[in-house]
Amino acid sequence: MYQAADDRYDRMTFARCGRSGLDLPRVSLGLWHNFGGDGLSKSARTMLLNSFDRGITHFDLANNYGPPPGSAEENFGRILATDLAPYRDELVISTKAGYLMWDGPYGEWGSRKYLLASLDQSLKRMGLEYVDIFYSHRFDPATPLDETMGALDAAVRAGKALYAGISSYGPDQTREAAAILKSLGTPCLIHQPSYSMLNRWVEGGLLDVLEDEGIGCIAFSPLAQGLLTDKYLKGVPKRSRAAIGDSFSTDLLTEQNLANVAALNEIAAERGQTLAQMALAWVLRDPRVTSVLIGASRWKQIEDSLGALDNTAFTDDELAAIDRHALDGGINIWA
Ligand code: NDP
Repeated sequence: MYQAADDRYDRMTFARCGRSGLDLPRVSLGLWHNFGGDGLSKSARTMLLNSFDRGITHFDLANNYGPPPGSAEENFGRILATDLAPYRDELVISTKAGYLMWDGPYGEWGSRKYLLASLDQSLKRMGLEYVDIFYSHRFDPATPLDETMGALDAAVRAGKALYAGISSYGPDQTREAAAILKSLGTPCLIHQPSYSMLNRWVEGGLLDVLEDEGIGCIAFSPLAQGLLTDKYLKGVPKRSRAAIGDSFSTDLLTEQNLANVAALNEIAAERGQTLAQMALAWVLRDPRVTSVLIGASRWKQIEDSLGALDNTAFTDDELAAIDRHALDGGINIWA
C-alpha cells in the first residue's frame, strides 16, 4: 500500500496561477509520452508516485495521450484507484480536448458537442467525478469562440471541471477567449503554450496578454522534447524519443545544432547545473511563468529536472551567452 512521503512539500516551490487562488508546483509532470499502453508500467508507476513524493502535485493529461489514445488517462485512473485516491484533494489533474479523438464530425476541434462528450469520456477513463482543469487543446478557426468557451463554462458549472484553460491560443485569440469566459463568470485560469530556450513565440505578445488578464502560464516541452539535455551529445540512445521518432525527428540532430547544445551544456556546467536544469530554470526565470510542464521516460530524469529549482536566477552575461547558441546563428528550429 502506497503511503506518500511525509516530507513531500519540503523541497517543492509553488507559484500562484495568474490572479486566481490556485497554486501550482513550479515543476509539473505531463503524461503525453511513456504513460500509455495496455496497463500501467512499473516505470510509469514509479515516476508518478516518486513525483508526488517530491511535491509534484500537478499531472497533465489529454484525451488523446497514449498510444493508443485514451490509454494514458486509463493508466492514470489505475494509479488513482490503487495508490493516489486518498490524496485526490492534494492533486491538480488536468485534461484537454481539441485534437482528433474519434471518427466523424464530432471527434475533434472546438464544438460544444465534442468538448463535453470528450470530457465525459475522460472522467470515465480516469474514474474521476471532476478534473481540476479542463482545456480547449487548440483554437478552432471554424467554430465561434463563444461556443468553445461556452462549453468550458458549462463543464465548470456542471461540476465536471473546477477551472477552465486554453492551450496554444495566440495572443489575440487569448484576449478574446478571456473576455468571453469573464463575461460568463468562469475566468480563464491558465494558458498552456510551448516555450523553451529554442521556441520563444510566447515572448511576441502572449506573455503580456497573460499578465494583463491575470492568467497563469504553464510551459510545455520546456526541454524541446529532450534536445535541451545532454542526452544526444553522444549519439541517439535506444529508447529515446529521437530513436522512436514519432514526435521528435533525428533531422534536428545536425552537427551545428549539437555543437550549440554542447555549448549550452558548458554554460550550464559553469552554473553548476545540468543542461536540463538550466533549460527549465531559464523558462522559470520569467515571473509570468507559473510552472514548467516536463515529460520523462524514467524517474532519474524527473529527479534531475527538479534540481532546476535550486537556481532560477541568471546574470545578463549568462542570458546573452545562451542567446548566442539558442537564437539566430545558434539552434533555431521553431518559430
Ligand atoms: P519535455 O520538453 O520536458 O521533453 C521530455 C523528454 O525529454 C523526455 O521524454 C525525455 O526524453 C527527455 N528528458 C526529460 N528530462 C530529462 C533529463 N533530466 N535528462 C535527459 N533527458 C530528459 O516535454 P514534453 O515534450 O514531454 O512535454 C511535456 C508535457 O507537456 C506533455 O507530457 C504534455 O502534458 C504537455 N504537452 C502539451 C501539448 C499541448 O498541445 N498542449 C503538446 C506537447 C506537450 P526520452 O523520452 O527520449 O528519454
